[in-house]
Amino acid sequence: MAQSSFTLNKILDFIYQHLTEEDWEEGLSLKQADKVHIINQYQNLIMARVYDSRQEEYEVRIKSHPSSKVIQWLECTCHENRKGYFCSHIAALVIHLSQENHKFIEGLEIGTSAKPIKSKKVKSTGAVQKVENASFSILEKIKNSITKIDFNKKTGHFDIESKVGLGAKNRFELEIDVFARYIGTLTKDSTFQGKKKYRVIEHATAHLGWFVYENNRSNEEIIAEKVVGISYEENTTADYEKIKESPDIIEVNSELDQTTDLKAKKIQIIAMEKNLYRLGKDYIYLADKGFIVLAKTDQSKSLKWKAAPYKDTYKDDRIPHYFEKIMPYELEQNKKVWTNKSLFEQMKVISPSLHKINLKKTKNEGWFNLCPSYKTDSVELPMVDLIVQSQTHQRSYLKTAKGWLKIPDFIKENQWNYNAETNEISTDFLGVIRLQALTGDLDNYVGSIKAIQMSRSKEEFSKRTNTPKLQDSKLKLRSYQKEGYDWLWWLYQNELHGLLADDMGIGKTHQAMAILSAIQQEKIKTRGTRFLIICPTTVLDHWFDQIEKFAPKLSPLKYHGNKRFHHLKEQDKNASLITSYGILLRDIRELSSYQWDAVILDEAHYVKNNKTNTYNAACQLKSRFKLCLTGTPMENHLSELKNIFDFLVPGHLGSNKYFKKNFLTPINQEQNVEKQVLLQKLIYPLKLRRTKNEVLKELPEKIEDLRYCSLTTEQVSLYKQVLKQKARPLLEKLEQNSEPIPYLHVFTVLQMLKQITNHPSLVVDGENYKEKKSGKFELLKDILREALDSGQKIVIFSQYVKMVKIIVDYCTEIGVECLSLTGTTTERGKIVKKFQEDANVKVFVSSLLAGGMGIDLTSASIVIHYDRWWNASKENQATDRVHRIGQKKSVQVFKLITKGTLEEKINKLIDKKSDTFSQFLEHDQKLLKKFSRQDIIELLQ
Ligand SMILES: [Zn+2]
Repeated sequence: MAQSSFTLNKILDFIYQHLTEEDWEEGLSLKQADKVHIINQYQNLIMARVYDSRQEEYEVRIKSHPSSKVIQWLECTCHENRKGYFCSHIAALVIHLSQENHKFIEGLEIGTSAKPIKSKKVKSTGAVQKVENASFSILEKIKNSITKIDFNKKTGHFDIESKVGLGAKNRFELEIDVFARYIGTLTKDSTFQGKKKYRVIEHATAHLGWFVYENNRSNEEIIAEKVVGISYEENTTADYEKIKESPDIIEVNSELDQTTDLKAKKIQIIAMEKNLYRLGKDYIYLADKGFIVLAKTDQSKSLKWKAAPYKDTYKDDRIPHYFEKIMPYELEQNKKVWTNKSLFEQMKVISPSLHKINLKKTKNEGWFNLCPSYKTDSVELPMVDLIVQSQTHQRSYLKTAKGWLKIPDFIKENQWNYNAETNEISTDFLGVIRLQALTGDLDNYVGSIKAIQMSRSKEEFSKRTNTPKLQDSKLKLRSYQKEGYDWLWWLYQNELHGLLADDMGIGKTHQAMAILSAIQQEKIKTRGTRFLIICPTTVLDHWFDQIEKFAPKLSPLKYHGNKRFHHLKEQDKNASLITSYGILLRDIRELSSYQWDAVILDEAHYVKNNKTNTYNAACQLKSRFKLCLTGTPMENHLSELKNIFDFLVPGHLGSNKYFKKNFLTPINQEQNVEKQVLLQKLIYPLKLRRTKNEVLKELPEKIEDLRYCSLTTEQVSLYKQVLKQKARPLLEKLEQNSEPIPYLHVFTVLQMLKQITNHPSLVVDGENYKEKKSGKFELLKDILREALDSGQKIVIFSQYVKMVKIIVDYCTEIGVECLSLTGTTTERGKIVKKFQEDANVKVFVSSLLAGGMGIDLTSASIVIHYDRWWNASKENQATDRVHRIGQKKSVQVFKLITKGTLEEKINKLIDKKSDTFSQFLEHDQKLLKKFSRQDIIELLQ
């Protein structure tokens, strides 16, 4: 039996590709409306008359070559075709032939001469649409002669076979969507070919999605499998008898709640791994049921889903990750997620909160045993469980019957000593502090009352600590300094470290010396102590002098300058090395090789930046006790505070990332008060800050402080030059007692030397002050910054107008509002009033003679005498501009002295002769006459 077959594609395809959609539709409808009349057929030539919708008549001819099976002519009399396009009339004829006279075009090719000159089609939507459109009519025509319909799993097409004429058969390939759409056009009750499986099932919708289930082999592994889920409407019944109910499978909604009655839904899950071929663009075909339409949202959004692998496996922490991140994303993309009921119960990812802490003090000093527990809505569990999961298994989640608990960063960030059997954690005081900060309220502490009290506040701790009495100490601590010392001792005893951030003028140095003395006292019985004090170069001498004066037993040693290595060898005995940040950086290898008993960082804001080498050097130091001193309220500079704490107690505030996420960003950008309180709780025990106002009632009226500095190299050479050229000839004269004292010359030389110690640019004309360096000016900058940081107003006196100007320039440059008063100032009253009343004006610079009398500067609480007057009473009078009636704060007075210069000598002279001079308030030169010949010789040497 001869079986002829052809594919519709070849010829129709060609024509379709060269036509507009409209022309093709028109051709189809012409054929269906029976507008194609064959008028002539001679062997290989067919002539037809085609009437268009307006009943215009065209002649269409098709001729093939008898042997080469090539169509030679394919033409129409219409205007379109004459212009070189295929037309709807040609389409109508070919469709007609394909259905009525397939033999004629069977196996034919389109010859070159039959091709249209131009194609009207801009974009081809491919052959599918064509087959679909063509097929509707074909199917309609042949539906009663169909002999076989096969669903081809390889192509996902239907192979349709029909009988034509005597024993001949045609075969079509149809896409799922095309066939389904055709079926859909049939009347509701009729089924195609009487076969139930070729019908469109109503009351059902197919969705693209995922089926999530536990892998049987391990319960810490889930699989998300690509599926199509078919949900049937509730009233779907016997008509679709083969639909199985799947009571265990439920649909996940984005809220993960079960309030919707999922059970009522009948869902059938079809894994796509071996069934993807069943899926068209709009329909899925199920062999024993029929066609089910895909949900509208899925029809256009399925690209990503299609590209995904059939199965994704998630293990361990990836499981909650799937629930928390991937699943919501899929739901958002309108993909459905189905799962088994048992797994659904565990899909929640919960952040538990610290619930209560059972606290017991243990034998070891400073160590505590705790039983903290965490709680969620449904579960309460020991914190140790979370720790074990995090530390032993490096996991971020803990699986429970009610979901996955997200292990708090806090637990992951810290190292824990724990006992998995007793659920106890052993921690030092800091650990208690961190837990306490997190629970928010001490009500959560249960257990030993004593232990609770101990953790409550540092005051209670300090009351309990029997701070040692300092033996043979010259330190006379004021009561608030004693409190600070108690606190420091408490820190030391508990192996903690601290930040002492008292306001300038409260006496941080004294408190530091007290704790060092106490440590030395304790250790001296067993072995010596090694202390390291690091400070800015400008206060190195100050530290040395203070220790020598008040705590000489600490044996201060300046570790500075070229001969410093000598000291380091000696310091095995009791010694306190004083060094600068510069030397720390240079000698870090040496300095970090020691185990220090205490390291003090003075002006700790010098190391606030953790990117600097100095900071990293400081962090390498090993010490039993670390203390940072600063007058800056660090709360305004959180990242700097963090860095200082990282130096003191690494890890206490967490990693930088943790700190940024939990504190820096919420506090700085969102003004999150809760986080601010939390941070305070964390740092509170390790930080002490008192302002002058707080301790006001106990403050003395006036604190005087001598601050020392050194000449810079350029100052030294200038100074020596003046001594050599001017002072030496004078000295020679002076030593001959017969000669009268050349006061004027002496005065001039002394003036020059004083000016050099102030700033080289006072004697070198025409230079920008920034081009020369002065040790004293650097010291001033440090004091100024500390004072400004603590929010106090400052008055600075100098004898030299040029110096006044330099200081004013400097203040302006660093953005500090500043006023000045010299002999030429006209509106004294106005300027003074502004300084007194305007809170923004921080600094008042005055020449000693102009500002030393008759004005009121009580809004300031710090006085700096940049250079020394010959006479203490003149200085005191100037100081009294600030320290007078109306002053509510204590006043701190700084007097700056350059070591190794005549300023030191003047200082001694003032001490010696203060009684003699107290009555004189005259000019320098006059005053000089009160000095003896020997005094003057000493000054000039
Ligand atoms: Zn035509």
